[in-house]
Amino acid sequence: MAAELLGKSRQDLREYCQALGQPPYRGAQIYRSLYAGRRFGFAEMTDLPVKLRERLAREASISLPQVVRRHASADGCVRYLLALAAENGAPASVEAVFMPSEGRQTICVSTQAGCAVDCRFCLTARLGLLRNLSPGEILAQVLLPLEEHKDRLAGQTNVVLMGQGEPFLNYDAVLEAVRIMLDGEALGFSPKHVTLSTSGILPGIERLAAEPVRPKLAISLNASTDEQRDAIMPINRKYPLNALLEACRRYPLRPWERLTFEYVLLGGVNDAPEDARRVVRLLSLLRAKVNLIPWNPADLPFREPAPERVEEFRRILWEKGIPVFVRLSRGRDVMAACGQLASL
Ligand code: SAH
Ligand code: SF4
Repeated sequence: MAAELLGKSRQDLREYCQALGQPPYRGAQIYRSLYAGRRFGFAEMTDLPVKLRERLAREASISLPQVVRRHASADGCVRYLLALAAENGAPASVEAVFMPSEGRQTICVSTQAGCAVDCRFCLTARLGLLRNLSPGEILAQVLLPLEEHKDRLAGQTNVVLMGQGEPFLNYDAVLEAVRIMLDGEALGFSPKHVTLSTSGILPGIERLAAEPVRPKLAISLNASTDEQRDAIMPINRKYPLNALLEACRRYPLRPWERLTFEYVLLGGVNDAPEDARRVVRLLSLLRAKVNLIPWNPADLPFREPAPERVEEFRRILWEKGIPVFVRLSRGRDVMAACGQLASL
């Protein structure tokens, strides 16, 4: 079977070339061609000797996943349903969302097929965990939409690891992929433009804190008391608010950085002015910003918050000096918005 090169690190590719009896620097050349040059065919890697290109074409492959379905939203977003190679006989699929806007494009990628965390308001939870994605499968979700839109790309690409899955429950593969995204000799994205979102897996936050290369971190807060959070995010029983916020306070922010807290507003559940005031207290010792996400309808027993509640919530945080933004999710008409990804 051909060796899959997509997802391999510079070191992996050096070792791969060595095993072929080639000098290791050939591996570094493939690394740059593949990720910086975005060349997905060996014939295009013109800095390699012809003989090696021919051998690679026989013995290795670079495969972008097959697009099972493409849903184009009226607002310009595209939701991709991508086929993954079968593992243990079970084929899986996963979703990525491409969102163009003025001066940039944002790509939302999945880190697992399905998710085991079981947040009550999220459609992905219904799938359960199907499987972890490999570094190559995570990178492919960025490369494929960039390739498809290459004639009309804006200058800046943002990546958000906010699709299906909990990134910290697939830590090693996610960090491998992120390192390739952030490496100047590979995809070369700025760490300011890559954001990983977690439901609050404490050991993951602590591990990320010690990484020399890391993306921005977002935490799905979603509630203002433990009681409320227990009810909508069962993971809170394992990592309750106090411990979570303590880990956030220890997290080593870079000078330009703030921690992002996401707060899904669920009508009548967590959207009261008292909730907003408690959120202000919870975040009081942190350099934080808050993204309020009005709940996106899915076939689940919640309702959207009233617009006045959203505005009131925003105002309370703003008046206490917390940078706060209301994120109106895009792609709702094609079920591409936060919490709506369920491989349909
Ligand atoms: N699993 C990670 C990242 C993916 S979810 C996490 O939970 O952080 C990305 C964001 O969408 C999270 O903040 C989550 O709370 C939010 N979300 C989930 N379902 C939603 C829905 N139906 N409407 C709005 N936001 C939702
Ligand atoms: Fe998983 Fe995030 Fe959905 Fe929770 S909100 S079930 S962690 S994908």
